[in-house]
Amino acid sequence: MVSTPTVEVAQSGRQYIATEVSASASPNQFLLPLTAQVNAQDHLEIGGCDVVDLVKRFGSPLYVLDEETLRTACRQYRQAFQKYYPAESLVIYASKAWNCLAVNAIVASEGLGIDVVSGGELYTALQAGLKPEVTYFHGNNKSVEELQYAIESGCTIVADNWHELKTLVALKPATPVRIMLRITPGIECHTHEYIRTGHIDSKFGFDPDQLESVFQYVSQQPELNCVGLHAHIGSQIFEIQPHGDLGSVMVQWMSKAAQYGLPVTELDIGGGLGIRYTESDDPPSIEEWVKVVCEGVVKACEAQGVPLPRLIAEPGRSLIGSACVTAYTIGGQKTIPGIRTYVSVDGGMSDNPRPITYQSVYRAVAANRMSAPATETVTVAGKHCESGDIVIKQASLPETESGDVLVVMATGAYNYSMSSNYNRLPRPAAVLVNQGEASIILQRETYQDLIRQDSLPERLIQA
Ligand code: PLP
Repeated sequence: MVSTPTVEVAQSGRQYIATEVSASASPNQFLLPLTAQVNAQDHLEIGGCDVVDLVKRFGSPLYVLDEETLRTACRQYRQAFQKYYPAESLVIYASKAWNCLAVNAIVASEGLGIDVVSGGELYTALQAGLKPEVTYFHGNNKSVEELQYAIESGCTIVADNWHELKTLVALKPATPVRIMLRITPGIECHTHEYIRTGHIDSKFGFDPDQLESVFQYVSQQPELNCVGLHAHIGSQIFEIQPHGDLGSVMVQWMSKAAQYGLPVTELDIGGGLGIRYTESDDPPSIEEWVKVVCEGVVKACEAQGVPLPRLIAEPGRSLIGSACVTAYTIGGQKTIPGIRTYVSVDGGMSDNPRPITYQSVYRAVAANRMSAPATETVTVAGKHCESGDIVIKQASLPETESGDVLVVMATGAYNYSMSSNYNRLPRPAAVLVNQGEASIILQRETYQDLIRQDSLPERLIQA
């Protein structure tokens, strides 16, 4: 339960406005983690930890993950399904958002399952203690080795295409493999082209026109135990109706699968609920989203006279996106009169590739001078050798100087997990904060880590 004052970034003039957060606040509707406060030193505090002190202690840049915000989001998903869905449900964490041992262990301890998309994600999930019964393996081009590993681990495989179905059959598993079929629903929603997956021209899933032949094929393979159907229409979605519509489309598919004798009793409606990255973003709450999804499925099942399936949702961003910030240290500044001022930070596209990949917009605060008015509009630049390495194109900030700690908000999803060593930058550390305690969950990489996989043939060794 959270009922402490938190901070929300102001529209203009001030860096933040204090906001009382109710116990039922949906984390995805806030720019900062739910425990954010400004302390007596005028510093940003998260999870009871002073972010400026964290940077001194653990170095910069630093991912700061708030355990309470992540746990609150997990509970809200589970409780909303219990409230609005009269049959069995399961929430699985789309771990592509941020897959590491600690995050996986937290979601597992909240009763969630997990969605993985590679052998590496599966390995990390199992090492974190996730049970194969609640682990679902996605991906449009799983290798034979990955499929073999998935079969041996006992997780459910979300089959994406014909090639994969035939490979699974050819692997001759000792017992029938639990699979779901991923289908492209042909539902359009308004989000970035690269993160839209539900429209027909998508690399993922079976085309709905092929359903009958897919169902027929699967029903004839004793190696395959098709328990469910899956669809995912995209990510960072603010409209609620597409997910309501998706439920009823999937129930129709389920009825069709039954005609082929397939024991389909699970529907996985994917993830996709958006989060607040800027003050103009207004996503629905977790509870509102779950309610629409459940009502869509229940209504469609009633209309078609079919029993309610076990309902699965696989959110990623809305579970973890708002729970984390990235703290950078400001270095140099460059003012081009009449054009702009660049404020450079010690990270960039290697720890957060979303702005350069999706033109994603973020907001920031100067964490060591929280009450200073936001008097300047500057461009926050990363340190990589790419002109496009811009963290925030137009950031409203107070006057800043070298050494200030700049906190970029809502960086929990698709930041660490999409990070790279571009320009041979070691990946930042990540700390988990909770009630004044900070624990390292990812060590900062070292220069030695950077050359760990390098190999220097003997003839190139300098005498
Ligand atoms: N499921 C699938 C198949 C996905 O591809 C994704 C994201 O791309 C998700 C779930 C999670 O989406 P989100 O993070 O928007 O909730």
